Amino acid sequence: MPVAEEHSADALILGGGPAGSTAGALLAGAGIETLIIEGERFPRFHVGESLLPHTLPLLDRLGVHETVRTLPHTRRKDGASFVTHDGGKHVAYWFENGLPPAIPHAYQVRRDEFDLALLANARRCGARVLEGWRAAAPRWDGRRVAGLTVRDPEGREQFISCRVFIDASGQSSFLASRMGWRFPYPMHRKAAAVSHFKGVWLPPGREAGNITIVLAHKGWFWLIPFADDTVSVGAVLDVEQWRAQGSSPGSIFNAAVEATPEVARRLAGAEALLPVSAIQNFSYRVMQVGGEGFCLVGDAAGFLDPVFSTGVFLATTTAASAAQDIIEALARHGRVDAADLAPTTSLTRSLQRLFFSFIRAYYDPHFLAFFFNPHDALDIPAAIVSLLAADVLRPGRWRRTSRYRALLALARAQRWGVRLGRPIVEPLAAGPAGGA
Ligand SMILES: Cc1cc2nc3c(=O)[nH]c(=O)nc-3n(C[C@H](O)[C@H](O)[C@H](O)COP(=O)(O)OP(=O)(O)OC[C@H]3O[C@@H](n4cnc5c(N)ncnc54)[C@H](O)[C@@H]3O)c2cc1C
Repeated sequence: MPVAEEHSADALILGGGPAGSTAGALLAGAGIETLIIEGERFPRFHVGESLLPHTLPLLDRLGVHETVRTLPHTRRKDGASFVTHDGGKHVAYWFENGLPPAIPHAYQVRRDEFDLALLANARRCGARVLEGWRAAAPRWDGRRVAGLTVRDPEGREQFISCRVFIDASGQSSFLASRMGWRFPYPMHRKAAAVSHFKGVWLPPGREAGNITIVLAHKGWFWLIPFADDTVSVGAVLDVEQWRAQGSSPGSIFNAAVEATPEVARRLAGAEALLPVSAIQNFSYRVMQVGGEGFCLVGDAAGFLDPVFSTGVFLATTTAASAAQDIIEALARHGRVDAADLAPTTSLTRSLQRLFFSFIRAYYDPHFLAFFFNPHDALDIPAAIVSLLAADVLRPGRWRRTSRYRALLALARAQRWGVRLGRPIVEPLAAGPAGGA
């Protein structure tokens, strides 16, 4: 198909999710000509509904905190609750108990509303947004991304040139998929089945607003309540188990619920408001997250597992960092080189390393034994809360995460204790990895 028209933008952003709209708002707000290309038309359904407290300072900076707080389905969340598959063990971590100064709450949000609000904010800040436009291929000028070939809503091919390209395309990881930089984690292949329900049992008091994570055989469930008491329920399972279990996402979801008494109890009498949908094979790493005139932010830069709800925090944080690097580079020398984006690529890598080690630990039954029996020694519960709240950006991060690293050491000691018949804490009967 012939190229019909040429457009240009100083900053070209692919994807209007939380990463793209954060970068778009900050760049346009700094007076940089910014264009966001989004394949869908908002509002649209998306998973990723539980936010972490340390996302809130960035919402303040973007000027959308109050808008997000007052969206029709937004619900205040004071902590995160974890329950074993049969309800035998339960622990609630409250954000107010994090290492000081703690941010004591966050929100559950419906992503159709949340993403629409963030994209509207990017527009308000001056970004141009094209919805229903799909990127087809990057165009290279040597090692530099010179622009994108896109298809407009009528299917016509067009070229958009840019001085800098931000890939915020989420799980499709546009640039990495096309360049062969995206690899699944062979030992961590997960899929999820999700729907929204009404009539789900919620705990009394302020725990009703918490996200609840329930351990399941070779996986886990999330239960995320919204303001109208509807609840997002998702099952995260091994891809192998998924394939073994059935045909449709609905039948796989139902089989997982039946095998998990705590979730079956909470869902007894509940009614699904949406057909169960599937999110397949979402764990992958990306070998290159930045280069000459381009960077990858949010899910486009890699994704492991949603158990600690870190996705939107990572997406908005890496996008804000990229915007800052770009603003400074354009002011300094009118272009954006790989070296200019080094602070963002290094932040992305270090946050991924930290959170991914926390997520991997969750699949270790010996770590979980402590997680469900938090000792007060060494301030470990407070350190866990700080990580669960994503308190990882302020100075002193090493000091705060050192207690969590102490917990990893205790998990190793527990492994030896179990082998020698003298565990430090009571082992768990079953965990998300399929057994202790
Ligand atoms: C099962 C599951 C549960 C999760 N739960 C949570 C949670 O509770 N809390 C949390 O914080 N995170 C959660 N996450 C992660 C969260 O969903 C993501 O981290 C977050 O949405 C990333 O934002 P993003 O802007 O990078 O990508 P996205 O929000 O996915 O946005 C990317 C956008 O790019 C557009 N796009 C992609 N390709 C193209 C193209 N070629 N052309 C045009 N447009 C394109 C898409 O339409 C999309 O709108 C979960 C993830 C999964 C898989």
